[in-house]
Amino acid sequence: MHSSEDGKLMRGGELARRILDELRAKIAALRARGGAAPTLATIMVGDDPASHAYLVAKDKRCSEIGIECRRVTLAKDTTTQRLVEAVTALVEDASVHAILVQHPVPEPIDKRAAFEAIPLAKDVDGVSSASLGRVILGMPAFPSCTPAGIMRLLREYQVSLDGADAVVVGRSPILGRPMASMLINAHATVTLCHSRTRDLPAIIGRADVLIVAMGKPRFVQGGWLERGAVVIDAGYNAGNIGDVDFDSAVGQAALITPVPGGVGPMTIATVLEHTVQACAAQLGVPYTDL
Ligand code: NAP
Repeated sequence: MHSSEDGKLMRGGELARRILDELRAKIAALRARGGAAPTLATIMVGDDPASHAYLVAKDKRCSEIGIECRRVTLAKDTTTQRLVEAVTALVEDASVHAILVQHPVPEPIDKRAAFEAIPLAKDVDGVSSASLGRVILGMPAFPSCTPAGIMRLLREYQVSLDGADAVVVGRSPILGRPMASMLINAHATVTLCHSRTRDLPAIIGRADVLIVAMGKPRFVQGGWLERGAVVIDAGYNAGNIGDVDFDSAVGQAALITPVPGGVGPMTIATVLEHTVQACAAQLGVPYTDL
């Protein structure tokens, strides 16, 4: 990479490290007030290798800053009922402050039933319809961690969203949809694209801020971008490859996230931040006091 391109990078890894340092201090303050260690429970169904790698990275960060991790692993031929029972057991366990159901969940299990069993207070990845509805309306709730981490990254790099043309590619309930809502709440004019969108390159060409979350390696080409666009690549494909063709995009973009080291570390830092916030709330300690 040329040095002029180096200055365009939105370094999520560095910001995430700062967030984790702040969290370490907050957890120590929480414990000094007689509080328990924040505890994050994760349920994984089956043995998806990408999920496994994500959980290993997340558990490592947790142990570095003092968050306790519990893992529940269910066989891939488990039933929806068994999965919901596992969630319910964690909901009823007062020593667990935060619950994640790792996705993808193998077919034919109804992951939505599992998500809906997580109450707002412990839904640190904003997966339930109640959490998502509140995020859309701008009401207090934990938002989904990847879009929340992206919003934090945009704030850190002082990207102006008020009145900006923002394009989101991907409409999944955990990424594209909450992302579009958060951008709308930040007063951007948002276009949400998906696999039925006609002429994606033309729409992308109008974006001041582009968020790509489609799961297609190097799909978005630099030649489609408006010069000076801010490009956020949430894609994470096999071999650490994003959804944006970085080499052709970096010359056109004003700012761009690298893969790896952009959005991914921000997602993990946000999960951990939400876990500490959930723990503080459940212990009745104002987060702002920490
Ligand atoms: P998903 O549920 O598979 O959704 C993909 C979205 O992309 C869908 O809305 C799909 O449209 C759309 N899409 C697919 N092909 C398209 C095309 N040719 N043109 C326009 N839109 C297209 O994926 P996801 O869970 O949202 O994840 C998206 C990506 O983000 C993946 O690479 C995933 O690994 C990554 N991710 C990263 C993090 C992180 O922390 N960095 C976290 C979560 C996910 P339809 O709705 O019409 O099918």
